[in-house]
Amino acid sequence: MQDTNPLYTTYLTVTQKAADINYASAVLGWDQETYMPPKGAEARGRQLATLASMAHQLLTGTYYGALLHSLSEQEYLFDTEKSNVAHSLDDYEKNSKLSPEFVEEMSMQTSECFNAWIAARKQNDFSVFAPSLAKMIALKRKQAELYGYTCHPYDALLDDYEKGITVATLDPLFQGIKEQLPPILDKIKAAKQVSNGCFHQHFPKEKQWNFGIDVLKRMGYDFEAGRQDYSEHPFTTSFAATDVRITTRVDENNFASMLWSCIHEGGHALYEQGLPENQYGLPLGSPVSLGIHESQSRFWENCIGRGRAFWEFFLSATTSLFPRTA
Ligand SMILES: [Zn+2]
Repeated sequence: MQDTNPLYTTYLTVTQKAADINYASAVLGWDQETYMPPKGAEARGRQLATLASMAHQLLTGTYYGALLHSLSEQEYLFDTEKSNVAHSLDDYEKNSKLSPEFVEEMSMQTSECFNAWIAARKQNDFSVFAPSLAKMIALKRKQAELYGYTCHPYDALLDDYEKGITVATLDPLFQGIKEQLPPILDKIKAAKQVSNGCFHQHFPKEKQWNFGIDVLKRMGYDFEAGRQDYSEHPFTTSFAATDVRITTRVDENNFASMLWSCIHEGGHALYEQGLPENQYGLPLGSPVSLGIHESQSRFWENCIGRGRAFWEFFLSATTSLFPRTA
């Protein structure tokens, strides 16, 4: 049996400490979108920015860089360890291109953008959000320049979500879809239309909530390792594989809104709850890419939630919970 390399133990200490900070930020971010009172917005913005720069400093320190370089030359590491080190070294090289000030500014702007978006949504007025969005786009352009790229500035940013994917790969893919979708859409439009009027009746909020919880339980979402709350826009966030939060919103006149969001976020959450607990805070304990993440949520939402088998199972529960009133 091979012992853990002492250098690798040091790597774990630093990397997981940075993860502690990032997950603590995620708790504050979750609270920002669920329970935080409006007057807390400014203080929350600075708290998140401070934590972001603390984690950044840990993950870009010269000591951490040297540690990763020497670990990447070690032969006697387990495959999982080698993989964690390779991913962390990649992240280190990328993170090092951003200054702590830039990371702080980006974090502050993200919070400001969120607050402006909430205000714009309440007032139904895009102009309330537009200036914050413009600032965010400018910062993102700057980030792309700092990261550097060979062909297209967006390649630099895409890499954060899908490692190695480029505009040159994606453009032909979307072009192909663009050519195939309109004829399918035309066929659908020309076919006999099915009414979704049943979704647009009055569905009391509390009953919808309970139904959503039941669906999540049957999907296998572990409420001992997560919870659901309300938010303006449904999302999933994670503080460890053992604490994965989801949110939903309820429209009393549209049953579908709550239902699809519940199943969709439930799909994201199942993926996060399934990540290996013994890889806490390490690359192998983190989602591999946004595409894989979204594939899980869409699979549950579209292939299962919109499937016949799902409704054969849930239809009687739905109609007895919501007897036809019209
Ligand atoms: Zn999603």
